[in-house]
Amino acid sequence: MAETRSTCPYCGVGCGVLVSPAGAVRGDPEHPANRGRLCSKGTALGETLDQPGRLLHPEVDGRRASWDAALDAVAEGFRGALAEHGPAGVALYVSGQLLTEDYFAANKFAKGFLGTGNIDSNSRLCMASAVAGHRRAFGEDIVPGIYEDLELADLVVLVGSNLAWCHPVLFQRLQAARAARPEMRVVVVDPRRTATCEGADLHLPLAPGSDVALFNGLLRHLHASGRRSEAAGLDAALAAAGGGTGGETGIDPALLTTFFAWFAATPRTVTLFSQGANQSSSGTDKANAIINCHLLTGSIGQPGAGPFSVTGQPNAMGGREVGALATTLAGHLDWDNPAEVEALRGFWQAPSLAAGPGLKAVELFQAAGEGRIGALWIMATNPAVSLPDAAAVRAAMRRVPCLVVSECVRESDTVDLARIRLPALGWGEKEGTVTNSERVISRQRGFRPAPGEARPDWWAVAEVAARLGWGEAFAWEGPAAIFREHAAVTALARPAARAFDLSGLAGLTDADYGTLPPTRWPVARPGEAGGRLSPPARFVATPSRPPAHATSPAYPLRLLTGRLRDQWHSMTRTGAVPRLMAHSPEPVAAINPADAAGLTDGGLARVASAWGSAVLRLRHDPAVARGAVFVPMHWTDRFAPAARINAAVNPAVDPHSGQPELKHTPVRVEPV
Ligand code: SF4
Repeated sequence: MAETRSTCPYCGVGCGVLVSPAGAVRGDPEHPANRGRLCSKGTALGETLDQPGRLLHPEVDGRRASWDAALDAVAEGFRGALAEHGPAGVALYVSGQLLTEDYFAANKFAKGFLGTGNIDSNSRLCMASAVAGHRRAFGEDIVPGIYEDLELADLVVLVGSNLAWCHPVLFQRLQAARAARPEMRVVVVDPRRTATCEGADLHLPLAPGSDVALFNGLLRHLHASGRRSEAAGLDAALAAAGGGTGGETGIDPALLTTFFAWFAATPRTVTLFSQGANQSSSGTDKANAIINCHLLTGSIGQPGAGPFSVTGQPNAMGGREVGALATTLAGHLDWDNPAEVEALRGFWQAPSLAAGPGLKAVELFQAAGEGRIGALWIMATNPAVSLPDAAAVRAAMRRVPCLVVSECVRESDTVDLARIRLPALGWGEKEGTVTNSERVISRQRGFRPAPGEARPDWWAVAEVAARLGWGEAFAWEGPAAIFREHAAVTALARPAARAFDLSGLAGLTDADYGTLPPTRWPVARPGEAGGRLSPPARFVATPSRPPAHATSPAYPLRLLTGRLRDQWHSMTRTGAVPRLMAHSPEPVAAINPADAAGLTDGGLARVASAWGSAVLRLRHDPAVARGAVFVPMHWTDRFAPAARINAAVNPAVDPHSGQPELKHTPVRVEPV
């Protein structure tokens, strides 16, 4: 039997894989994202296929139930919550792990028929600030560049990105390009000296949260060097940049001078930014401060040049496309455009279409904690671990009368709290598409039978919609039909009002969908493939602001959270692979030795904030900046008691994007 062509389910690089009938996984040499490469997680995919502990049957109130009974219970829960609270009292919380077709179904159900904007994605934690920044600068959520630009650039600036660990195949591509062109330079902007800094030409160890000050300083330098632009908003952006020269960052002035000079002198510059920039109460301003500098040098959407937001999850981009963030509509349509709203209402035959945006992730769970959410459906995510102020989130879920969780695994911190559990298909079992960080849509294909009674998420949504009286609008025969509808929605903004255009794929046959090769949008006509985009842009004023909560004598250190090389999210899949666990087998808090007085290297320590605490192994690590503590975000109480670091993370959010400030919580560290 031939190998199955599919896509890795982990990060936003979106690598193509080939899977043998025996489950051996190798990189797909024909996929444009990876050209045959894989990282440690992708290589170990075959070892996750027979994952123990799967949720195999629906459950209601702790007892096994038939699908019919479970779906009836979900429908009843949502009907009751709608009657009691109205559309504001029902919600879905979904995931960048979903396939686009599942995502589309959930969003249509919520915004089109429940009539609520309350559907948000865990992508809110990942790149919501980049989305908001793109929309302010370009009028639409557009990533202008493609991965090849990292290879064509003469200068690559990595901001808040441990690319070597978090997007390893992109890092491999970058390293290969540098080996071929040693004159290429790499600058890393990060409070930590991460693995990505190895071999970099310059590391700028800025104070956590000071990225806006850095790029405002660069904007002033570029302007002072004679750069000019006709784009709107430059004067306001310069005024907001103030007189600062980047000194607020704490970076050695000589390093700043070097960076500014390199940026000004290098037309082919890519600035790649990721979660280290986005996860901040000024994350949106960080995105715009970066875009401002590229706009002033005229380097957006050019070969080897431009701002480049890289997503964390495999299908964060797909969620952005279908409107699965509470702040967006399907197909990049705009709530502020009445004609587009009417077009969607008519296309879906959805008279109850939500009137406007709903609650973003942190707000959503706060509303649940206040008893304002009567029914909440969570799919493919573990907010009891991953959201900030995680103890409050757990308490909030306990207050929801109808808590539904669709999951692959029988036990997780979130599944444990559910009243209704629905068994979902996992990687290798389901069919659909994902979109990676460079706008390439790739197929995930099934090659294994469904375990137990697990079913696709889109099917469960359609069944509940039918029970609520909306069956006709959800009568898809399969994921190909959903994809065609998704593609057709993108044509509603015509003529050519949006770059996101899949209208050339709206007529795909089932067979075409089955063999769909990796395809970058926009695709306005069948057979076309998209490339770089040079959207019209405007400058955005980005005054520098400190993080939401300042350090104090009680909490003198700054907690940063992030990823490990070999783990994914709350470890439900990667935690079951011994060779992945071997890389970093226990939860560790890393602290600069100069801040570690009274704290033993290798001893246990409590990292405590005003919100909560976690107990971890302490490691003295000079790679961590003075005044900071770094803790991986993966560990749950299931793997190590009391190691859930998000219990200590503050729930402050960016005012534009609602993205939580996961990269700055005042804490103290004390011996246990
Ligand atoms: Fe999978 Fe990301 Fe690794 Fe590629 S880089 S193999 S998408 S985890």
